Amino acid sequence: MTSVVGTLALQGAFARHIAALRRCGVDAIEVRTPAQLAQVDALVIPGGESGVISKLLVSNGLKDELGERLAEGMPTFGTCAGMIMLSAEILDGRTDQFCYDRVDIAVRRNGYGRQIDSFEADLTVTALGPDPLRAVFIRAPKVERVGPDVEVLASVDEVPVICRQGPVLVASFHPELTDDIRLHQLFVSGLAGIGPDGGPDDPIE
Ligand code: GLN
Repeated sequence: MTSVVGTLALQGAFARHIAALRRCGVDAIEVRTPAQLAQVDALVIPGGESGVISKLLVSNGLKDELGERLAEGMPTFGTCAGMIMLSAEILDGRTDQFCYDRVDIAVRRNGYGRQIDSFEADLTVTALGPDPLRAVFIRAPKVERVGPDVEVLASVDEVPVICRQGPVLVASFHPELTDDIRLHQLFVSGLAGIGPDGGPDDPIE
């Protein structure tokens, strides 16, 4: 059976994540309610504004349910604001925002400063093969501390920008804004029903 991968669709850049996930061969759905969350095997938390996402998780009755799924080890991929939501500590956060502490990193909101609000970089990501990954950073969080259990998959100027801890993958940029789906493929590659190349399994004849 092919895995169902949800994308948290409360706010922010969720539509393109759904398109990228479908290109990976998974069944991708929007998640706005606890009932939808209960249907998914894995989740993408997209970019947007982490303070707003925090509030909407509360008002949509998802805060605790999502916390429980994360504690059970649900594979989750957080990008930009999604990385902030999954981190252990938020620096320069709003007083009313929270994070789920699934990746032992401290992130500074808007940590790259106003002068470089947005920038692009070509990343070397060994896990994705020899071709560089073009990464679009938009008011991105800056990783300022990395715990011993965190695997750093890519860095820019020695600052980690892709990290993984167990089933949780986080990136400080927006992988859904380019046509390169390799990071989404890496995320879904361990899920049921996904072939080794990240595409759908060969049909059983
Ligand atoms: N600066 C945003 C925040 O604090 C994140 C920006 C983004 O997701 N592109 O949540």
